[in-house]
Amino acid sequence: MSDSYVIVGDGIAGASAAETLREEAPDAEITVITEEGESLYNRILIKEFAKGKLPEAPISIHDESWYDDHDVDLRLNTLVVDVDVENDAIRTHEGETIEYDSLLLAIGGTPQQLPVGNADAEGIHHFWTFQDARKIKESVEDADRGVIVGAGLLGIDFAAICGAQDVEAKYLMRGDSWWRYALSNEGAEIMHEAMRERGVEPVFDSGVDHFEVDDDGHVVAAVDPNGERYECDFAGVAIGLDFNTEILEDTPIETDDGVIVDEYMRTNVDNVFAAGDITEFHDTVLGERAQNGAWGSAKEQGTIAAHNMIDHGSEPFKWVSSYSITHFDFPFLSFGHPTLGDDSVEATTDEGEWRRVALKDGRVVGGVLIGDLSPQSAFKQLMREKRDVSGQKELLMEPGFAVDDLAASTEH
Ligand SMILES: Cc1cc2nc3c(=O)[nH]c(=O)nc-3n(C[C@H](O)[C@H](O)[C@H](O)COP(=O)(O)OP(=O)(O)OC[C@H]3O[C@@H](n4cnc5c(N)ncnc54)[C@H](O)[C@@H]3O)c2cc1C
Repeated sequence: MSDSYVIVGDGIAGASAAETLREEAPDAEITVITEEGESLYNRILIKEFAKGKLPEAPISIHDESWYDDHDVDLRLNTLVVDVDVENDAIRTHEGETIEYDSLLLAIGGTPQQLPVGNADAEGIHHFWTFQDARKIKESVEDADRGVIVGAGLLGIDFAAICGAQDVEAKYLMRGDSWWRYALSNEGAEIMHEAMRERGVEPVFDSGVDHFEVDDDGHVVAAVDPNGERYECDFAGVAIGLDFNTEILEDTPIETDDGVIVDEYMRTNVDNVFAAGDITEFHDTVLGERAQNGAWGSAKEQGTIAAHNMIDHGSEPFKWVSSYSITHFDFPFLSFGHPTLGDDSVEATTDEGEWRRVALKDGRVVGGVLIGDLSPQSAFKQLMREKRDVSGQKELLMEPGFAVDDLAASTEH
């Protein structure tokens, strides 16, 4: 049994692991190390701050006194640069070595920069930390025109921020609709219309070839691959994350895009675990390796990792992730893995209400609900139970759908 735990990352995965470890191992030494200058805050709410809708205070979850009160050694502004699994130790950027009995990597990802000219100019923003949100808010408040790039869940946050701060924006998308891997044009059009109502114009079959800057190095325009020029004082780029695996390059810890773990959040090195966005985990619901990028999933993985750091094999991660968008006057929810699957079924169930369910081998693997979220628990139940809905998929589109509507023979 371990009694010295080191956690790298104080996002929701690392922090929930620290909380669980303290509850279950009252005498253990717990150290939490973060590159950021502030302790756990609600990453989901920083967009509301950037929109100007929420002050700073309620976004903080753990202030520094929480760590003192729970006897957790918190190291802010500390970058871990090396993991030495031979000697069970990590090394910080200041050259300090900290030994562990058990290590948790809850290190998440870093937003990717566009590989185009002037992508690092002043006024071009990426969005991950509270510090990013402060800079975005300041920049967007002074802007009249914006450009947004990245037709996914974080890109739409930039659209909502521009809308809320009265910045006229062009949302440059590579394909012919927003989040085209999860929604069809019909579903996406509901989102496009909501953007337009807020002064954000989707521009399809576009993207960025390069940015133009003024003499001070501040962005003044984005030029798309078709040669169209969009003037802007603000640009938001959300094209995906690079997972923070560099510190593991010279270690035997197995990585691919992220850190590979089993359903107990353990890596191939016995006393090294990982949790949150960084993991490529064995998804017991899906039956294959998967990666989630959502708050609830990261929180649960942190808790599960902590249980298994104390007693490996005690509790597997079994979770259907979800992610909601609350910027508009209708609800939006994606669940599971809406971009996976070999089949799908979709329908407009009422005015402004649309749903799509992704299927693989006849089973629900994810989906998107717009306007009416009521079937979400039924769909999640079908996922957890791995029900085969072949031949009955149209039933999933019925208003008021319930699991009992399916023929009993499909039960596994
Ligand atoms: C603007 C925004 C809006 C979002 N909205 C939603 C939403 O509505 N719903 C939803 O479900 N999810 C949302 N998400 C995603 C969600 O916030 C993440 O999935 C979740 O926070 C991931 O938590 P994590 O602990 O795994 O990683 P992170 O929160 O990324 O934490 C990782 C931490 O590790 C630190 N770190 C990394 N490497 C090192 C190192 N070498 N040394 C020291 N520290 C290191 C990082 O600095 C960071 O603080 C949103 C994310 C953003 C940015």
